[in-house]
Amino acid sequence: MDFKFTQQPLEKIPVDLVFATSFEKEGLRGPDGGIVFDKYLDGNLSRLMQDQNFEGKEGEILCVPTFQKIKPKYVLVAGLGPQKDFSAESIRRLGGRICQEANRLRARSAGGILETGGIKGVPPEARLRAFVEGCGLAAYQFIRFKTKEDKKKKNTLQTVWFYGRGKTARLQKASEEAQAIVGGVELARDLTNLPPNHLTPSVLGRQALALAKKHKNISVTVLGAAEILKQKMGALLAVAQGSATPPAFIHLKYNPSGKPKTKVALIGKGITFDSGGLNIKTREQELMKMDMAGAAAVLGAFDALARVQPKVAVEGFIPAAENMPAGNAYRPSDILTTRSGKTVEIVNTDAEGRLALADALDFACESKPTYMIDMATLTGGTAYAVGELVTSVLGNDKRLTARLLAAGKKAGEPAWELPIVQDYKKGYLKGPADLKNSGSGTKASTISGALFLEEFVQNNKWVHMDIASTAWADEPTSYHPMVGATGTPVRTLIYFLMDL
Ligand SMILES: [Zn+2]
Repeated sequence: MDFKFTQQPLEKIPVDLVFATSFEKEGLRGPDGGIVFDKYLDGNLSRLMQDQNFEGKEGEILCVPTFQKIKPKYVLVAGLGPQKDFSAESIRRLGGRICQEANRLRARSAGGILETGGIKGVPPEARLRAFVEGCGLAAYQFIRFKTKEDKKKKNTLQTVWFYGRGKTARLQKASEEAQAIVGGVELARDLTNLPPNHLTPSVLGRQALALAKKHKNISVTVLGAAEILKQKMGALLAVAQGSATPPAFIHLKYNPSGKPKTKVALIGKGITFDSGGLNIKTREQELMKMDMAGAAAVLGAFDALARVQPKVAVEGFIPAAENMPAGNAYRPSDILTTRSGKTVEIVNTDAEGRLALADALDFACESKPTYMIDMATLTGGTAYAVGELVTSVLGNDKRLTARLLAAGKKAGEPAWELPIVQDYKKGYLKGPADLKNSGSGTKASTISGALFLEEFVQNNKWVHMDIASTAWADEPTSYHPMVGATGTPVRTLIYFLMDL
C-alpha cells in the first residue's frame, strides 16, 4: 500500500473515498473536513448521522455515497470514542477500520486530512505514524493456501492520500518508519501462520538468511545439528531428538552506522511444532504451529530494524526445533547438560521452550549485551494472569522493564509486569540435577517459567515477555483483520529500540 501527501483539497481529487471523524456525542469536526464535506452534500451527512443514531463511539462507522457532488465516491465518518480517552491508539484503530471498510467497498484509494497541531497532546507525526500502522496492519491477508479465485479475493485499497501542509520531511519519515514496522509485523504473522509442514527449523533458518540478502545491514549465521552439538547445546538437542526434522540455531546481527553504545540481544523461542513430546498434549495441538511466535517476532523485528535504522547494535538468537514423541524422543526423568554446564532433570517434556531458550540465553550472554529481551509462547498461565490482550513481562532490572512497558504502551501492545518470586524456585532445586524443568510447586506457571530462564542470563539486565496468550488472536480486531497470528511484540521491540 502507498501513503502519499497532496496539497490538493480532497473533494477535488478522484479518490474513491474520503474520511472524517467524530468524538463521541460531539458530531462532525471542522479541522478534518467533516463539516465541509457535509456542506458539499447539502447537510445529508449530519442528517444521516442523526437518522441512524450515529454517536461517534469507537468502532462506529457511517458510509455515505456522494452521488458526484464531489470527486470522491463516498464519505466515511468514523467514531473515535470519548475525547478524554483519545491517544495514538485511537488513530491506529481508525486506520485499521478505514482500511477494512475501504476493502469492503472495493475502493482502490482513500483520502483524509492531516490536521496541523496536536490533538490531546498527540502531534501530527505520531498520528500519521499510528494511522499508517493501523491501516497497513489491517490490510494483512493469509490466502496463499486458497486455490479458488473467489476465496483468494485480494484487498483493493492501494493508495491513501493525506491532505495537509507542514514539515513533510518529518511526516515522510514517520510514514516510512510505520511502513517498515508494518512489514516486520507482516513477516512475523506470515511465519507464525505457516503450518509446521511448511515451516521447519531449517526453513526458518532460510527465512533468516533471506533477510540478510534483502538488507545490507543484517548478517546471519545458521547452525545445523552438528554445529549445535559442537556448541554443547544439550538442552536444545534433547528437545529436537524425537523429531525427523533437524534443529537449527539462528544468529542474526544488525549493524548500525557509527559506533553504538548500546547492544540489545533479542532471543525468540522457535518451536515450529509442539506436540508436547512424550507428555503429549491432549488439547489444542492444532494451534501449536504458533509455538515459534517468539522467533517470528525476532525475524520481523530485524526486517523492520534494517529499514528504521536505530543507532543501536542488535543481535538475534533463535533456537529452532520441533518437539515430537518418538522412540528416540527425550523422556521425563532424563538429565540433560545445558550449554551453561548446569544440569536439568526433565519432569515434563512439554516444558521444552525453556530448555531451548536456556541454551540460547547462554549463547547470547557471550555477545556481552547491554540488555537481553526474550520473547516466548512459554506458559498457558499468562492467559489466566492477564488475559489475551496483555503480555506478561518479568525481568531483573526495574528500569529496563519500565522502558519495555512504556514501549508497549506506545505501540498499542499492552503489557503488564508480574513479580519474580524467588521462593517459587525451591521446587526446581529438589531433584537429582541442578534444576528441574517443571514442578516448581507454584500455580503461577508464568512466574516459574521466568524463574527457570533467569538461571541462564548470568549477570545481564534481562526481561522476559510471555506472549503465549497475545501472539495469536481468536477474534479479529480493527487492525488485525483475521483469526491467527498477531505479530506481537514486533511493534514493542521497534519502539523500544528507537527510543534507546
Ligand atoms: Zn510445550
